[in-house]
Amino acid sequence: GLLYDMRLLSEFCREREMLLIVDAVSAFIAEEIDMAALGADVVLTGSQKALACHPGISLMALSPRGQERVAENPEVCSYLSLKEALRNGERGQTPWTPAVNTLLEINARLRSIEARGIDAERAEIASRAKAVRDALTSTTLEMVPENPSNAVTALRCPASNAKAIIERAKTGYGMWLCPNGGALCDEVFRIGHIGAITEEDNDRLIDCLTSLSAEGLF
Ligand SMILES: *Cc1c(COP(=O)(O)O)cnc(C)c1O
Repeated sequence: GLLYDMRLLSEFCREREMLLIVDAVSAFIAEEIDMAALGADVVLTGSQKALACHPGISLMALSPRGQERVAENPEVCSYLSLKEALRNGERGQTPWTPAVNTLLEINARLRSIEARGIDAERAEIASRAKAVRDALTSTTLEMVPENPSNAVTALRCPASNAKAIIERAKTGYGMWLCPNGGALCDEVFRIGHIGAITEEDNDRLIDCLTSLSAEGLF
């Protein structure tokens, strides 16, 4: 749930002449990313997050320096061959048959974002995140990071009952929240704000959270 300080990371990489590779899988659209200003060499995302399309396509943007590095380095895997992807890109194609249906979805989605303006899209995500966070301020749940991304809200449960909260939201309210894996599975759960979520959906989510709080879960 943390929004990285990209200026800090960018300066760090610039000073050391390191390539900057940005995993923007969930930040893409939700947060502003200016590849040129950051001096980012690779920015990658997927079809299934804020683009809200079916999974199956990874999108990757490479700076000229990033492309040079691809050309210099030996290939280690034939399926993920950036050399082949760049070569085929020159004729407007991919090396192998991609998930064509998902590409068509992405194309339609990008056209709609372009028509509406990326700022409106980003503001909508931010307003959904704010509405959820505002509704939780009077509960015992704590925001995990100090500098949260608008893409997702990561919440710490002082009662270590994250699994019970998720289960109750699902069975009691038909609302699926995102469990955390690993060592924090009882402490933390997450609420996504990206994707095909309407204002009505968000209101339902807030009603669900308010009810869970009233039930004493947090
Ligand atoms: C979702 C996500 C991933 C994982 O991507 P999947 O294709 O869903 O497995 C990686 N990095 C970030 C920042 C993500 O949000």
